[in-house]
Amino acid sequence: MGLFEDVVVNAKTAVNVVGKKAGQMVDISKLRINAADLNNEISKRFEALGRVIYDAKKTENDSAELVNECVAAIDELYEQLDAVNEQISSLRCRVVCKQCGEENSAEACYCSKCGNKLDQE
Ligand SMILES: [Zn+2]
Repeated sequence: MGLFEDVVVNAKTAVNVVGKKAGQMVDISKLRINAADLNNEISKRFEALGRVIYDAKKTENDSAELVNECVAAIDELYEQLDAVNEQISSLRCRVVCKQCGEENSAEACYCSKCGNKLDQE
């Protein structure tokens, strides 16, 4: 059962590492990298899940619990990905004033704090 356990432990470690990273990052390019990392991680978890099922079939072990753990790890990663994507879209909807640093909504033409004309990119 050593291999199966490794797969699950690795899944949990990955979830923790990515979770910590997500909490620290605020700027959009880093969030995009974070989202890409999460997508990679999810792909790896799916691969691991496939391997668990394959090995269980071959060795006629009951894989139900391991499959559940892999699925839970994938769900957790999906939740993190949703949170990161939400952060990205909320950052995208804002324009930062170059003069005073105030965050304005994307539709605003002038800064709500200092009245500076905002660049629409
Ligand atoms: Zn301003």
